[in-house]
Amino acid sequence: MKNFPLTQIKGIGEKRAKVFAKLGIYTLYDLLNYFPRNYIDMTRPTPICSLVSGESAVVVGKVCSPVTEKRVRGDMLIYTFSVTDADPKIDDGHPSRTDTVRVTLFNRKFLAASIKEGQELTLIGKAMGLGFFKEISSPTIFTGKQDGLRPQYPLTKDITQQMIYAPVKTLFDTGKSLISQVIPENLPSEIIEKFGLISRTDAYEKIHFPSNWNDVLQARKRLGFEELFIFRLGLSVLKRKHTVGKATHIKPQPMDEVGKLFPFELTPAQQKAITEAATDMAGSIPMARLVQGDVGSGKTAVAAALCYNAIKSGYQACLMVPTELLAIQHADDLNDILSPHGITVGLLTGSVTAAQKKKIKQKLKAGEIDLLIGTHAMIEPDVEFKNLALAVTDEQHRFGVKQRAVLAEKCADGLSPHVLVMSATPIPRSLAMVLYGDLSVSVIDMLPKGRKKVSTFLLSSEANDRMYGYVTEEAKKGFQSYIVCPLVEEGEDTTVKAVEGFFEELKEKYFAETSAAFIHGRMKPKDKDRILREFAENKISVLVSTTVIEVGVNVPNATVMIIQNAERFGLSQLHQLRGRVGRGKQKSYCFLISDTQSEQTLQRLNALCSTNDGFEIARADLEQRGPGDFFGVRQHGIPMFKMADMLSDLETVEAASDTADTFVKNTPNWFKEEKYAPLRRSVSEFFARSEGC
Ligand code: ADP
Ligand code: MG
Repeated sequence: MKNFPLTQIKGIGEKRAKVFAKLGIYTLYDLLNYFPRNYIDMTRPTPICSLVSGESAVVVGKVCSPVTEKRVRGDMLIYTFSVTDADPKIDDGHPSRTDTVRVTLFNRKFLAASIKEGQELTLIGKAMGLGFFKEISSPTIFTGKQDGLRPQYPLTKDITQQMIYAPVKTLFDTGKSLISQVIPENLPSEIIEKFGLISRTDAYEKIHFPSNWNDVLQARKRLGFEELFIFRLGLSVLKRKHTVGKATHIKPQPMDEVGKLFPFELTPAQQKAITEAATDMAGSIPMARLVQGDVGSGKTAVAAALCYNAIKSGYQACLMVPTELLAIQHADDLNDILSPHGITVGLLTGSVTAAQKKKIKQKLKAGEIDLLIGTHAMIEPDVEFKNLALAVTDEQHRFGVKQRAVLAEKCADGLSPHVLVMSATPIPRSLAMVLYGDLSVSVIDMLPKGRKKVSTFLLSSEANDRMYGYVTEEAKKGFQSYIVCPLVEEGEDTTVKAVEGFFEELKEKYFAETSAAFIHGRMKPKDKDRILREFAENKISVLVSTTVIEVGVNVPNATVMIIQNAERFGLSQLHQLRGRVGRGKQKSYCFLISDTQSEQTLQRLNALCSTNDGFEIARADLEQRGPGDFFGVRQHGIPMFKMADMLSDLETVEAASDTADTFVKNTPNWFKEEKYAPLRRSVSEFFARSEGC
């Protein structure tokens, strides 16, 4: 099907199309999918006397002055006029509630010329000023009273509500046949009927131009259902290969033998998780299991034990992690544990040289590497195993659905590997269900013995001197510290300079006599590796870092975590960062540094000080940020649901998932049928959107 460019709409030329590109809108499909953030109810205007400065409102009133024109700064034209309540309410005992507001327009010559004294207008805009003098600048203006709800779109600089509203409106008013080509009905009719859903085009019209709140609900119901249905259908396509395959039978090794691999005694929770997974792997159906355990609960040991099982049965295993740093560290750690037992560990990341890569691939195919550890570089098509039996994904929330599915297909001879995913981020039941369906879950609900709670404090930057002094003292005692600087790891050169600058400043002022180093994502892997190793060996006492150390990094001798500008991070992220300390027997501290004045932010940060429970923190995070942000694909590898209310509407989640499963069962070749072409397109669009970054 064709992608219709925006310029198909009357009034949108090349220049305007460029403005839309800033919002990521290139086609008619994109425009229709640019949903309002909320609505203004046009049937409930605010009396002028009740306008609140800084808040958007609808005002219905009569023009009560002539329009005046003023020219400023050479070429700017300012038009002003006054509007008074057309219909003063006398409902609260005041004799008269009539009031006026001044309206200001910039350079709107034609609009200004059309406004006449005595005319009734509806204005939507932000009121400014208080008391006698109120002003609304650049409002959207309609003549007469208006009905219905007015959509409010998310905007960026240089884009106004009207600039989005107008073309969408034109499209619905004059381009119905075009619309039905852009968003053809994609749900099977029997499903629409069964759940009493409105049609796809109706839903889009109602989401943009609802007459009342019920329209909004109807539209959301339909679009939310559609989203979940399509997602679940897409999963079934991805999983197809995986679930039809037979798995290799892996003999469980005795627990006391497995236990001897480690320099510590496994916790009962770790043993339970190992036993559950080992039992799955002894069967012929491929395992699909999630191991959930808070930061520091010892998930790596569980993975190591299961890899050991698979390798002892004569197969290969792999462990995929989200960052290179973590891959390097896991490779070092697991090599220490497993190589004494004759197991060969290989490391494959994006920055391994081409020659090395070639060698690793050869060895892998020949079966000379038993356990491959790496980043998503290992899912490239030319990475082939001899006989992969177990695929583990660590910090699974960092990966996309597709990446995991690809890993699960890396098995020769039509066999499917057992799949284990590990995560510290609790996933709500509803979400786990759509994501994994019949995934089994093991929970590691205890920390290794002797762990002390990490004490967390919220301090202002005035405490920096004292705090860095404490870091120096800890260093003298042989303990180590992390200092996370407030730069987002986005890979710009300016970031690199800023980390270096921040480090130099700290070094000069506080750590002249303390061994300190810095690390960030854009360093050469060799340098990252060296610094991390030196930190692990306690040759470096203070590590200044961006958030690259957020997941997985494990140096039990580190006792202090300082997070600068803590307000810039989400709660779950702060909890992960804090999880880098308190990994040994020593009492550890986490200092959140923030000068924020915002009550809400302070409350959020204080929540972290009062609990160490990852599940509780995730729940708070979810409540505060909403599922859109929390489940953003970048953060958690979970696709963005625009409409579906994953958290509270469990019923729809279940219904849509079940319906999709039944549909696939009854129509296994649906994707080959012409009548389901729109459905097929929606599935691939959804995944393109989710996996895009
Ligand atoms: P996470 O669950 O966050 O991935 P790790 O697997 O990195 O946790 O383990 C955290 C630390 O705890 C590591 O230093 C690890 O060696 C140690 N550890 C794991 N299991 C135990 C145990 N049963 N007893 C003592 N220490 C353990
Ligand atoms: Mg881990």
